[in-house]
Amino acid sequence: MKHTLPELTYKYNALEPYIDALTMEIHHTRHHQAYINNYLNALEGMNDLLEKDVEEVLRNLDMVPERIKQTVINNGGGYFNHRLFFDILTPLKTEMSQDLKQAIEEKFDSFEKFKEVFNKAATTRFGSGWAWLLVDENKKLKVVSSANQDTPFAQGTPILGLDVWEHAYYLKYQNKRPDYINNFWNVVDWEKVSRNFLSAK
Ligand code: MN
Repeated sequence: MKHTLPELTYKYNALEPYIDALTMEIHHTRHHQAYINNYLNALEGMNDLLEKDVEEVLRNLDMVPERIKQTVINNGGGYFNHRLFFDILTPLKTEMSQDLKQAIEEKFDSFEKFKEVFNKAATTRFGSGWAWLLVDENKKLKVVSSANQDTPFAQGTPILGLDVWEHAYYLKYQNKRPDYINNFWNVVDWEKVSRNFLSAK
């Protein structure tokens, strides 16, 4: 299968003022691209692995030779995580499905409470990492965070993710990670998250 940088469905400046154009451009063309390049370099010549989607490889790390496993975790993770992240952003006003709304209220009592839990996970993730909303093995929603470019597959299927590496926000927000996290909610594509929820269940 082809491993190319996924095109965004919106322009780099489309998420202003919440996420600035320069951050988006650097994040997409340099960071995301670098993870893909490094993933491809690590798997060079391993056609059986290159044929698979990166998600399948990350979910089945036993298939990966030991000497490149950490490189695949780091760069395959960066490849997958950014693909999900950029896909669930939009400048458009979107609404979540009734299905997802109900599941959020069932698990967290309210959307506001869910955001508090998620924001806390994103804020308190020490150093670089991600906050996730995922569907766990019991088909229930769960908020977790992960370090570096680790994917959360051991705990479930991610349906929404927020990059809290400094490269994701430092140009605009400097050390004010909580402001970036609060503003993130203005640009979430709830239709995509709802779709992810449906397929993860
Ligand atoms: Mn990033």
